[in-house]
Amino acid sequence: MYDVIIIGGGPAGYTAALYSARARLKTLVIEKMFSGGQMATTDSMENYPGFDEPVGGVELALRMENQARKFGAEILYDEVIDMDLAGKVKIVKTTSHTYNCKALILCMGASPKSLGLDKEGALRGLGVSYCSVCDAAFYKGKKVAVVGGGNSAADDALYLTKYAEKVYLIHRRDNLSCVKMAQEELFKSDKIDFVFNSQVVELLGERKLEGIRVKNSKTNETSTLYIDGLFIAIGLVPNNELVLGKLELSKDGYIITDRNMKTSVEGVFAAGDICEKPLRQVVTAASDGAVAAYSAEKYVTQYNP
Ligand SMILES: Cc1cc2nc3c(=O)[nH]c(=O)nc-3n(C[C@H](O)[C@H](O)[C@H](O)COP(=O)(O)OP(=O)(O)OC[C@H]3O[C@@H](n4cnc5c(N)ncnc54)[C@H](O)[C@@H]3O)c2cc1C
Repeated sequence: MYDVIIIGGGPAGYTAALYSARARLKTLVIEKMFSGGQMATTDSMENYPGFDEPVGGVELALRMENQARKFGAEILYDEVIDMDLAGKVKIVKTTSHTYNCKALILCMGASPKSLGLDKEGALRGLGVSYCSVCDAAFYKGKKVAVVGGGNSAADDALYLTKYAEKVYLIHRRDNLSCVKMAQEELFKSDKIDFVFNSQVVELLGERKLEGIRVKNSKTNETSTLYIDGLFIAIGLVPNNELVLGKLELSKDGYIITDRNMKTSVEGVFAAGDICEKPLRQVVTAASDGAVAAYSAEKYVTQYNP
């Protein structure tokens, strides 16, 4: 039986594994795809502390993975398909095996909602982005567009005005749903042009984004915007399929934890983007992972079967 099983090999999972393995707990990480999670889908990160030159997402992921392995964490590439959280022993079922553990740390992350357009996947990181805090600096002096009308789209548009020459804010309605203060700031900015009642219907460019086709739902007219970057801010979706009905979730489906990263079920902890929290970044995922492992260590030390 493992002391701790961690589901998800993103920055939250590997940091939890590092802390758990260094605490001499028998630790297993289960990752279904590739090392690093969302982090590995970004070419270059400029905001992870300790790297004064940009670091590649894949490089940082492999370093985190190696660091956790170095202290004895086992890493398994398999998909968790079910869990039984009810008993003292937590049961984790993958496509090939069943594993038992005393404490479980859930780090399955989140996925950005996509527009569902052709080439959206292929142009991701090549002009299509889901994270302005991460990628805005690459668009200094360039033209970009943000899709969405809520708070994250407003934040993205305002953040992008620090770098881009022009920011188009494309929203399918004719009024924004973000907070009033943000709206005032948006309307004050001379860099932002509003494209209301409109939806992006096509991405242009093969090797990198060169423009977008936008359809106005009132007039049915389609026009082309030549832009270098498209920021899609229509929300994230938590990867919560495994815990539906098993743990307390927020109304948006994120796992609710306390400040020790404990969930509503004893012996089950959560960390990173899958948690209800204000800022979803690598540094906050790593921080959550460290706290979750520290709490799991305390729990395992007092564990009575
Ligand atoms: C394009 C892009 C660029 C970004 N750039 C930056 C940046 O520059 N700086 C920054 O700080 N943040 C950036 N972010 C945000 C950052 O990547 C995330 O906040 C961070 O990766 C969250 O870490 P996590 O470990 O919580 O989850 P994730 O990174 O989402 O990892 C979760 C992992 O769990 C695995 N998993 C899910 N379900 C299962 C299952 N059933 N079985 C096994 N494994 C499972 C997934 O495969 C995934 O690997 C960016 C995000 C994106 C999408």
